[in-house]
Amino acid sequence: MAGEGRIMSEILKLVKKHEKYRSESLNLQASENIMSMDAREALSSDLASRYSLVLDPSKGDAYGGTQYTEEILHETEKLAAALYGSKYAEVRPLGGHIAAEMVILSLMSKRENMMSIAEKDGGYTGYQNGYLPQMFGFQNYEVPYDQASQEINLQKLERAMKASSPSLVVLGQSFFLKHYDLKPLREMCDAYNSYLAYDGSHVMGLIAGQAFQKDVLEYCDLLFGSTHKSFFGPQGGIILTNNEDIFTRIRKNITWRTMDNYHPSRIAALGVALEEMTKYGRDYAASVVRNSRHLGKELHENGVGVKYSPWYSETHQIALDGDYFQGRGMSFESASRILEDNGIIVDREGRIGTSEISRMGFSDMGRIAELISSALSGKNIRQEVSDLIKELRIHYTGA
Ligand SMILES: *Cc1c(COP(=O)(O)O)cnc(C)c1O
Repeated sequence: MAGEGRIMSEILKLVKKHEKYRSESLNLQASENIMSMDAREALSSDLASRYSLVLDPSKGDAYGGTQYTEEILHETEKLAAALYGSKYAEVRPLGGHIAAEMVILSLMSKRENMMSIAEKDGGYTGYQNGYLPQMFGFQNYEVPYDQASQEINLQKLERAMKASSPSLVVLGQSFFLKHYDLKPLREMCDAYNSYLAYDGSHVMGLIAGQAFQKDVLEYCDLLFGSTHKSFFGPQGGIILTNNEDIFTRIRKNITWRTMDNYHPSRIAALGVALEEMTKYGRDYAASVVRNSRHLGKELHENGVGVKYSPWYSETHQIALDGDYFQGRGMSFESASRILEDNGIIVDREGRIGTSEISRMGFSDMGRIAELISSALSGKNIRQEVSDLIKELRIHYTGA
């Protein structure tokens, strides 16, 4: 027992080190966000080691002690449907990727074709042929995309749909800067008898706050994605639809197909986050998008290469310009390491995200741009970063 205790405490020491490290860093990672203390309390509650399983409501729960677990699940479903304005909400997927699996399994049969945005154009790697399509016996074709304008090429898409007759088109990107013009895409999918799904993993918080792609459920058969990128967390997935038939099929592909235990504490934390988003989502999402646009402009004015001037972004991300970094003997990776040495965390793929700083109530993008620019030109800005971090505290939570 003593040995067991020691091992645990070593790991806990590492956790403490991580928490100290992250609390002293400015997080500009596009895929991440910070959770409120209320959501954390739910996530680490007793629910974290409990089970609950209701397959047939007339038969009740297969486990005991589930009175509140079930109530939390159903209230969370209701909160999700109300927030997104959908008839149905499925909150159990363990992540955005698992939600994608459920959607693909529910809408396609073996040997059919799907279409999604190519990885080179910012699409999600999981939809490329070596991943989900290969696992399930589908073929993926790329949705033609124009990088310069960050828009789908509708004429080319029409030809590609004619050639491959996809049963499913999945929109959404991991490098995601601009909304889609959904009406013609819906019309095309109707003409070719294809489902239209929207993977909003990166932008679920912005859609919830109505700052981005407000019309998604008007035109798409379903919206799904991660609950922790621009959304308030915890890590997980969600599926929303107005279509009863689709919803029924999705539900069939959950228990014992794509997952079993749904992690009740995660659902409770999501419920808390949904309450926060319902109350504060509009302010938060508007500030995220405003901050991205400003940060793009300020970085540009501070001489850092950013793409898509003068609009920069409609989301929580801005895209750095690879040529700019190459021209200075840097890569996205080396630039990211230089910033991290100075207490600023970004990914190593050329994205900068504003979700977390916006949740921390920060809006002086000129100051962040100056710090990034200084660090990239070799200055040590650790002290300035830690001064800035002292001003931050979590917003958009509580009564
Ligand atoms: C991140 C991402 C996913 C995967 O989400 P997880 O929550 O990490 O499983 C799926 N699709 C897109 C577009 C993503 O960016």
